[in-house]
Amino acid sequence: MYEDGLPALREVISRYQLSSRKSLGQNFLTDLNLTGKIARSANGLGGSDLKDSIVYEVGPGPGALTRALLINGACKVIAVETDPRCILALKDIQAAYPGRLEVIHGDALKMDEPQLIGDNNGHSVKIIANLPYNIGTALLVKWLTLKAWPPWYSSLTLMFQKEVGMRITATPRTKAYGRLSILGQYRATAKIMFDVPPRAFVPAPKVTSCIVALTPKAMPAVRQPILEKIVYAAFNQRRKMLRTSLKALGTDPLPALKAAAITPTCRAEELSVEDFCRLAAAYENYSSPVIS
Ligand code: SAM
Repeated sequence: MYEDGLPALREVISRYQLSSRKSLGQNFLTDLNLTGKIARSANGLGGSDLKDSIVYEVGPGPGALTRALLINGACKVIAVETDPRCILALKDIQAAYPGRLEVIHGDALKMDEPQLIGDNNGHSVKIIANLPYNIGTALLVKWLTLKAWPPWYSSLTLMFQKEVGMRITATPRTKAYGRLSILGQYRATAKIMFDVPPRAFVPAPKVTSCIVALTPKAMPAVRQPILEKIVYAAFNQRRKMLRTSLKALGTDPLPALKAAAITPTCRAEELSVEDFCRLAAAYENYSSPVIS
């Protein structure tokens, strides 16, 4: 029994026979102290605390993070889970927190979240999740490339494999710096909060994980498809100079590089996120009919 009067997570897993399914990226957390730390790490992000927020959680599983979010005062948790066995297990949490946990059976990749959340009664919405590793990046792309910006959420607190977290938060001139770093940072500030060792999960994965916090920032004045194409071309041949790698876009890169004040002999990993945005804006002026 825990402070919320509910059984230990290992007991829940055994009672509802939640044998882990690899295809669903199921590595469950069982320690409410750890999930409490994850929940509290969202405090202050995006200018709001958990106690003033609605939480959108993807993949609650047996509910270790869900329970911590509720214990730590989230106004409401709206959780999307694809595995019907977990939906059954989550009913006990719903009963312990009347009106504060809504569970939706479905695929998080297909969710129209603002419609799902509906009227937030003036509360900000935080996304907090131990993501299934196989769709973690796809969900991040979904949330960071929304047309409507600022987005419907005020912050993201997400578990990733450490290697993915390092790529999201990487700085120029490092090995991890690449397309995911630009995606993670062109519209958000991204930071690794802390690592989570394999032994924290059931079953234990082979690699270390980490919690990444992302807070939306003002959107740069560039169209994302153009930025994406430039970033792809530049990092696809990351050892080549930009004057060569960007030829893959089908037009002479020199006018846009000059307009963006970027030295043509630079390589992709030397450019900051702001450099890439400036370059994308220059391409809009010089070459948009070709690469848009
Ligand atoms: N939050 C739980 C925890 O920390 O113990 C479980 C995390 S586990 C890494 C990922 C969860 O996401 C699993 O419960 C899995 O069933 C669920 N899941 C997998 N694919 C999903 C999808 N497309 N939409 C919603 N949930 C999904």
